[in-house]
Amino acid sequence: MSSLEESLKEMFAAVSQANRKYSAFAKRAEDEGQKDVAKLLRAASEAEGIHANNFLRAMGMIKSTKENLNSAIDGEVKRFLKIYQSMMNTEMTEDDRWARMSLCYAHEAEKKFAHFFEKALLNLGQNKEADYFVCKICGFTVENELPEKCPVCGSRKKVFEKIE
Ligand SMILES: [Zn+2]
Repeated sequence: MSSLEESLKEMFAAVSQANRKYSAFAKRAEDEGQKDVAKLLRAASEAEGIHANNFLRAMGMIKSTKENLNSAIDGEVKRFLKIYQSMMNTEMTEDDRWARMSLCYAHEAEKKFAHFFEKALLNLGQNKEADYFVCKICGFTVENELPEKCPVCGSRKKVFEKIE
C-alpha cells in the first residue's frame, strides 16, 4: 500500500469517527439546551461525512452494487460478528454493563444485516423493495413488519424509525 493510500485510509477512519462523534455531541448539546453549539456540531458532522465519502471515492472503494454488497458482507459484517463474539467472551465487570449491552446490540443487528445483505444479493436487479425499520435504541432492524416490542432491547414499537 502506498503512503498516499495509507494516509487516505487512516483519514477515512478518522473523519468517519468524527462524523459520528460530532453527531452524538450535537445531540447532547441539544439535550442541554445549547442549540447554537448543537447546530455547529451538526454542521461539523455533516462536513466530516462529506470528507469521509470523498476519501472513500479517492481510494476507489465505491464499486458496483454487487461488489459493494459483497464487500459489506465479507469486509464488515462477518468481521464484526467475529469480533463481537470474541469480545462478548472477555471478562467484564458490573461497571462494563453498558459495554456488554452495546456489544450485544451490535451483534444482533449485524446478524440481521448479514441476512438482509445476502438476500439483497440474491434478489439483485429484481427491484424487490422492502420497508426497513431501525430501533433507535439498539439498532436492531426489521423488515416490512414492526414487532410490538424490539426483540433485542425490549423497546416499544414507537422507537422504530422507518427508513425511506
Ligand atoms: Zn431495540
